[in-house]
Amino acid sequence: VVADQLANAEGLSGGLNLYNGRKASLSLDIIIVGCGLGGLAAAHCLSQAGHKITLLESASAIGDVGAGIQVSPNVSRLLRRWGLGQTLQKIAVMPEAITFRRYSTGERVGYTKWGKKMTEEYGAPYYHIHRADFHKLLFDLAAPNMKLRLKSAVVDVDPDEPSVTLQTGEVVRGDLIIGADGVKSFLQQAVLGRTNPARATGDAAYRAIIPTDFMHEDPELKAFVEEPEMTAWMAPGRHLMAYCIRAKKELNLVLLHPDDGSVESWSAEGSADKMRAEFSDFEPRVQKLLAKVDSTLKWRLMDRQPLETWVHKSGKIALLGDSCHPMLPYRAQGAAMAIEDAAVIGNLFSHLSHRDQIAPLLHAYQDLRYERTANTQASSTLNQKIFHLPDGPEQEARDYDMKIAMEAELK
Ligand code: FAD
Repeated sequence: VVADQLANAEGLSGGLNLYNGRKASLSLDIIIVGCGLGGLAAAHCLSQAGHKITLLESASAIGDVGAGIQVSPNVSRLLRRWGLGQTLQKIAVMPEAITFRRYSTGERVGYTKWGKKMTEEYGAPYYHIHRADFHKLLFDLAAPNMKLRLKSAVVDVDPDEPSVTLQTGEVVRGDLIIGADGVKSFLQQAVLGRTNPARATGDAAYRAIIPTDFMHEDPELKAFVEEPEMTAWMAPGRHLMAYCIRAKKELNLVLLHPDDGSVESWSAEGSADKMRAEFSDFEPRVQKLLAKVDSTLKWRLMDRQPLETWVHKSGKIALLGDSCHPMLPYRAQGAAMAIEDAAVIGNLFSHLSHRDQIAPLLHAYQDLRYERTANTQASSTLNQKIFHLPDGPEQEARDYDMKIAMEAELK
């Protein structure tokens, strides 16, 4: 919202004319650590604001994991402004609705129209997209205006100079450092002077993608792909989300369940058989979908409190994305918040004309973003409880309320 208000106030209309063509009159050398969705969005916005970007990434190749991601209107609106609207429309799927179902019977307990209605209400569409496609979209946008250095893990930082030291021993200097290095951020420790302890939520997430071709032949599954919705099956302590990606040729599955000793990692593998056993009490249609899973990723879900600050006292380092506000995926807003951060910091730094403004602008960035991201962190945590209620009076009351809202929606 803040990004949008700022952008509207600037009269932004398209990717080629970001910030109304305004560039900072003082151009900085900015080091961004981390080539995730947040780092790439920041590279684009800050380069468009007139700064020189060096992006340091520890991995040896560019890309993202094999999983889907939800792109809500607060983000698709920004992406459209950045000139990505048409490409996004081609490579993403626009779901018609979200449907909530009871896990054991498949009974529909909740329904909200999305599709065109979402665009009408929020001014931009809701999309589902493959993470690798999303990452490539942002990479192609940012790449022409940044210097990317792969295999460049940052192992030390001097906040006063400021500079970072790479694993090779090389020191990279800049005027400003942005830590977009994710949930286990090294830069966060430098900013806080301590680590931010993580609390186990007790949940882990399996993620898998299956082809949808067989679903067209099955009368029970056909609708999931031919009239694509996001479907959420809610169960005690678990839930399953399913949605189509890649021109509806693939179905993305996210399965939240009690953690049984997994690790917090994008790339850790899980056992498809264990996953099927864990969800064997879900309705028969779910069993048909899970039967098609060959391999899964498994991510341990950890919760973290909002940080007291995102800006180092030197005023030369700031955090962005998961490094400053990691959140649980129950509202699908982690990457969304990182991309909004990028839009705000880019806009602010397009006004830079003097070195003395760097620290105040970083604090303004934090002030503009803090409350919204902290609230999103908190509401994401709350959704875990709502989705995972044990069978009984509270669950019945939840389902009753959802049904009332659904009837109103369907009228
Ligand atoms: P990351 O994507 O983690 O990127 C950090 C980068 O920094 C990585 O490339 C890493 O290699 C690099 N790096 C780390 N340390 C160093 C170092 N020392 N030196 C150099 N490089 C380094 N969000 C949504 O908006 N919608 C969703 O539908 C959604 N679904 C999700 C589902 C699950 C199961 C989970 C777990 C999360 C989900 N999220 C979703 C959250 C979202 O994926 C994250 O919030 C987002 O990826 C954070 O982006 P980032 O750029 O801040 O960090």
